[in-house]
Amino acid sequence: MQVVVNSPNVEYTNKYIISKYDYQYVEAQKEESSIAVNTLTEKLMFRTQRKVPKLGVMLVGWGGNNGASFTAALIANKLKLSWTTRKGNQDANWFGSVTQASTVRIADEVHVPMSHLLPIVDPNNLIIDGWDISALDLAAALKRSEVFPPDLVEVLKPHMEKRKPRAAIFNQDYVAENQKSRADNVLNGSKLDQVKTIMDDIEEFRNQWKLDEVIVLWTATTERFTSIVEGINDTAENLSKAIKSNYKDISPSTLYAYAAISKGCTYINGSPQNTFVPGLIELAEEKKVFIAGDDFKSGQTKLKSVLVDFLVSAGIKPVSIVSYNHLGNNDGRNLSAPEQFRSKEISKSNVVDDMVASNSILYKPGEKPDHVVVIKYVPYVGDSKRAMDEYISEIMMGGHNTLVIHNTCEDSLLAAPLILDLVLLAELFSRIEVKKLESEDAEYTKLHPVLSVLSYLCKAPLVPKGTPIVNSLFRQRACIENILRACTGLPPETNMTLEHKVP
Ligand code: NAD
Repeated sequence: MQVVVNSPNVEYTNKYIISKYDYQYVEAQKEESSIAVNTLTEKLMFRTQRKVPKLGVMLVGWGGNNGASFTAALIANKLKLSWTTRKGNQDANWFGSVTQASTVRIADEVHVPMSHLLPIVDPNNLIIDGWDISALDLAAALKRSEVFPPDLVEVLKPHMEKRKPRAAIFNQDYVAENQKSRADNVLNGSKLDQVKTIMDDIEEFRNQWKLDEVIVLWTATTERFTSIVEGINDTAENLSKAIKSNYKDISPSTLYAYAAISKGCTYINGSPQNTFVPGLIELAEEKKVFIAGDDFKSGQTKLKSVLVDFLVSAGIKPVSIVSYNHLGNNDGRNLSAPEQFRSKEISKSNVVDDMVASNSILYKPGEKPDHVVVIKYVPYVGDSKRAMDEYISEIMMGGHNTLVIHNTCEDSLLAAPLILDLVLLAELFSRIEVKKLESEDAEYTKLHPVLSVLSYLCKAPLVPKGTPIVNSLFRQRACIENILRACTGLPPETNMTLEHKVP
């Protein structure tokens, strides 16, 4: 049920939804004893293509816990499967997906699924493929993951066993030593040969299913960070030369992303490593291809970006945040190695910075809460990750408030709906164009290739150079919702509800 807005500012043509929009924003300059503020209005025209493409997604790390769980959820939802649990029958659903399971308020008591605001790909029509260094078929990979109950795994088996990951780019130097035993499905040849194979795979997948668009998403093992080296990965041209010369220190993830961007495919990074070296970002900008990342914001960090926002915006001062995790899946095994843990630690550590910096009453310039992140591998708990956090805050007159949170759930069941949202929203935002109306010859342009609007789904959001990073979950969600509303011709959700307050 699509929302249809009756307004002189909205036009529905066969091809587009066109919406005229006054974007009001503020510029401010701090002066000695005052702040000079200018309110500005930019007259914009949004245009959203109505035809939804036939979309394919290629997962790097397809046979991992997330990849197998996502594939299983896609099939189970499409086939409307249900299975027995100790509590009775369980139907397939997409709980945890903001596009499939959350709503947007249109008017009092009228809420619609977010996916009804603008035409968006139906998950049941999404085609999936991918690569993995482990050759196990997807049915066996699902069993290995120990995420779903055996009954469901059996029902899904005939739908998954014929799906086999394509051979992958692998470099032992980037992942923990303990991952070596998985690598029985890897590409040989030079870096350029490998990139070409990935590009051919994308082309073959596109042709096989007659796809209009392909998105490539990394949900593979966390890599160590790559050094940024002048002359090697600092510009698009240097990165290209480095690949051609088979330079040793280029990560597999950067090679996949390079291949995807070269084929014009949006590339999304669900892990913490710095795949997007400056040369790769430049390539995406030059080719006007979308990129997004980094690292799915699924459990502990999601809660942190809510809790710290709540505390700081309530005038309470978090002074110590200590986060312990233990998990027993293959991700945890890989993260038990120091260099891979370091990637995760970095990605998890900046999440409160913008909220802290926003409140100069609580924090002096440069002051931050103590923030420590610990991750331990405990095989017994499998995919059922434990996240334990202690938040100590200063309250009035030197008092203290300590919050302790214990969070237990299957990690992959949090990540799979995020994979869906990242893919569907990245595709939707690629169909949105905008034009500034100040000059007559202004033309429609796409959004910036660095899709920061997907920050809601990412632990360490990638944003265009020089632009602010927003970590607060509700601000990130409001960003998605309000852009979708603008394209539909609805005003932003201000929560003022003045219609009930002004007599
Ligand atoms: P996993 O270990 O089960 O799966 C990763 C898969 O990637 C494995 O099957 C592995 O064989 C494959 N792989 C490794 N290197 C590869 C390469 N170069 N090319 C192709 N395939 C390769 O891990 P997971 O639990 O599925 O998590 C996947 C990633 O998502 C991890 O990096 C993790 O840190 C990240 N992540 C997960 C969550 C979550 O909630 N589950 C949240 C944030 C980030």
